[in-house]
Amino acid sequence: MIDILCGDRLLVIDDEPIYGKLIKKVAEASGFEVVVTDDPVIFVTTTRLWHPTVIMMDLNMPGTDGIQLLRTLAADQCAADVVLTSGADAKVLESAMQLGRERGLSMTEVLPKPMRTATLRARLDSFRRMPKPLLSADLAAAIAAERLFLEYQPKLDCRLGRIIGVEALVRWRHQRQGIIPPDQFIPMAEESGLIGELTDWVIAAAAAQSAEWRAGGLALAVAINISARDIEDLDLPDRLDRRCRDAGVEPASLTLELTETGAMRRDIQMMDVLTRLRLKGFKLSLDDFGTGYSSLVQLQKMPFSELKIDRFFVRQMLTNQGCRVIVEIVIDLARKLELSSIAEGVEDEATLNKLIEMGCDAIQGYHVCRPIAASRVPAFVREYEATHTAPAAPADRAA
Ligand code: C2E
Ligand code: CA
Ligand code: CA
Repeated sequence: MIDILCGDRLLVIDDEPIYGKLIKKVAEASGFEVVVTDDPVIFVTTTRLWHPTVIMMDLNMPGTDGIQLLRTLAADQCAADVVLTSGADAKVLESAMQLGRERGLSMTEVLPKPMRTATLRARLDSFRRMPKPLLSADLAAAIAAERLFLEYQPKLDCRLGRIIGVEALVRWRHQRQGIIPPDQFIPMAEESGLIGELTDWVIAAAAAQSAEWRAGGLALAVAINISARDIEDLDLPDRLDRRCRDAGVEPASLTLELTETGAMRRDIQMMDVLTRLRLKGFKLSLDDFGTGYSSLVQLQKMPFSELKIDRFFVRQMLTNQGCRVIVEIVIDLARKLELSSIAEGVEDEATLNKLIEMGCDAIQGYHVCRPIAASRVPAFVREYEATHTAPAAPADRAA
């Protein structure tokens, strides 16, 4: 994925070369990377692939419908700040701004033409993103305004050679900073006490998505990540159960992935919460296994259904003897404790084949698929089934 967090990117659509050139010159001097086009198709493709942070649009272009372009931006959930540049009637521009806002775009202002260089420079400078710390108040607002979204990474069953589930991974569509990955805000959510709300949002969204796929004939197990802070709340099992009921999905179709460090604290309360989650039907996966502090005794006592081998070991298992041994032992341990094993971070065919040979139950990683939008999942699964018919695992492997 493009690192959207560095650099300010300005995309300009304008059919008057003189304005295109002026904006490019001023914006580059202000530190923007700039793309100028007068072609609506290039414009749309560039917004999708390059994720501009600011968009300047001329609404009056011959042969182009600016309102339609705004609609496309909104459908793509474009997070850029949008500036309209036009010589059109002020009322028309104001309605276009309003329309864009109602569709959820960040419509910032109108820059009437002709424009002066000094005004343009001042306005562009105001759009430069300051490396501001992420604030919990912003996150709270983002949860309320549905500015979080989930991507889903497919999981491959090694024996069946089929996609059997997906892991939901949260992202934050930040108004000024673009798309922020979870590692940059989950710790803050945990510290500020917002994690419960975030988890509620994630499970509701993932459960609704699961129900939608099921209604379309796609029965995928969906995994969500639970923070160690979540299981400090005795009410968690009931909350999650309620969310599933609201969405009309069985808890059994959901796996809760819990990071080892958090899961393994010796705590009666945690045991209580985890056991009740299992009783309600949720599956429990011990995430990032191998990096934390679990003792084998604790592992045996806790009601997990799956061990997820951390990508740190998987990534190096073909080149580092120690990592390979650890992966092997964890797969073996899972089998002996009657848990399923899944390896994350599989980036190439050779690693996949080695894991299959070792008897790993499932894998996940860029080699199969990167995290993708929910809307792309059904087509991905169909295409994978069509092109990978044979079981991935040797036929004689023990189940
Ligand atoms: P995780 O649970 O270990 O999730 C897997 C991470 O590995 C994801 O990063 C995924 O994009 C990445 N990944 C997947 N396949 C590969 C691969 O082949 N190679 C490499 N190098 N990386 C791969 P992402 O989405 O940035 O998530 C990071 C972490 O944020 C997650 O790690 C999880 O601990 C946390 N997280 C994500 N969503 C949520 C959530 O909804 N709630 C909570 N509490 N934590 C979340
Ligand atoms: Ca996970
Ligand atoms: Ca993990």
